[in-house]
Amino acid sequence: MVDLQSQYQKIKPEIDVAIQEVLESSAYINGPSVKAFQTNLEKYLGVKHVIPCANGTDALQIAMMGLGLEQGDEVITADFTFAATVEVIALLKLTPVLVDVEAATFNMDIDALKKAITPKTKAIVPVHLFGQCANMDAVLEVAKAHNLYVIEDTAQAIGADYTFADGTVKKAGTMGDVGTTSFFPSKNLGCYGDGGAIFTNDDALAHKLVGIVNHGMYTRYYHDEVGVNSRLDSIQAAILNVKLPNLDAYCDARYKAAMYYNEAFKDYKNIETPVISDFSTHVFHQYTLKIHNVDRNALHQYLLDQGIPCAIYYPVPLHLQKAYADERYSEADFKVTNQLINQVLSLPMHTEFDEEQLAFITNKIIEFVTKK
Ligand SMILES: *Cc1c(COP(=O)(O)O)cnc(C)c1O
Repeated sequence: MVDLQSQYQKIKPEIDVAIQEVLESSAYINGPSVKAFQTNLEKYLGVKHVIPCANGTDALQIAMMGLGLEQGDEVITADFTFAATVEVIALLKLTPVLVDVEAATFNMDIDALKKAITPKTKAIVPVHLFGQCANMDAVLEVAKAHNLYVIEDTAQAIGADYTFADGTVKKAGTMGDVGTTSFFPSKNLGCYGDGGAIFTNDDALAHKLVGIVNHGMYTRYYHDEVGVNSRLDSIQAAILNVKLPNLDAYCDARYKAAMYYNEAFKDYKNIETPVISDFSTHVFHQYTLKIHNVDRNALHQYLLDQGIPCAIYYPVPLHLQKAYADERYSEADFKVTNQLINQVLSLPMHTEFDEEQLAFITNKIIEFVTKK
């Protein structure tokens, strides 16, 4: 699905020097590379505060802790996303409220969001799925009307730009009260292990988050809050400092591959290519097709047999997962996710394709869907 090896080979001299510097500094935790990355990412995103942490799941959890959400508070998120989003809501003993998504963009459906609001609702977690932003004009309007926090899960969309109705442009993750991301190796900005970060423009919240990631300590050995231990280590930060200046070029390379796929599939009505919204750029963390009137599972297996990695993101909607199923949910409210799980197929997507590979992949898919 991804080619991290070729990408590393292109930046190997810089990466190797950066890692060596950390090794020789022996500042393995909270070294200068962490502080530098924090500043570099703040500049890139145009956000006041970046708080690095250990992974994208922690980032979500810490963001929710920082907002002071309490047991029983309802938190609305999308039914069609990686489980981490709902997992941390449940872990904190908040009440997850899953809502359906839009068939076109795979992102949170705004009517479903509005319908799910109750007097207990405290926060909305839009997930910018597969690399494009949810409808943030609408999400922020709903949040404002009901006095709710907005936590953007930007694990799949770092680098995407959102254009508001008034023309203002902001980076994914910097529009709500707080944004979170992951630097898992296969993410658009990946390190060589685990990593994550939290973003906010709110000074007081940033101060709180800085304590929570470090055992709730603001003064050494004085614990004002219940915190966690969640750090981005110095080696990962050094790697991210080398990769961040390439992020826009990486997003462009993904976009180019996506446009190749789009062009190749445009005449085949049983292959539905991804929709790009007017208000968001698409950084194609995943390139996800919808397959119609062809056996999707057979196509998936055929491609695997041909040596083409591809995957079903996601095979089970969250409201049907054993851990998150709840009698509060009614199947009639999940028409779209229940359909998407049978249609979606994500193709290889990374920064290092040559045309020959893309031609091979698209030809095999077309061969299968046109087979009599
Ligand atoms: C990857 C991902 C996460 C979790 O990130 P980790 O660094 O793996 O903990 C959270 N949300 C979404 C949407 C993701 O894709």
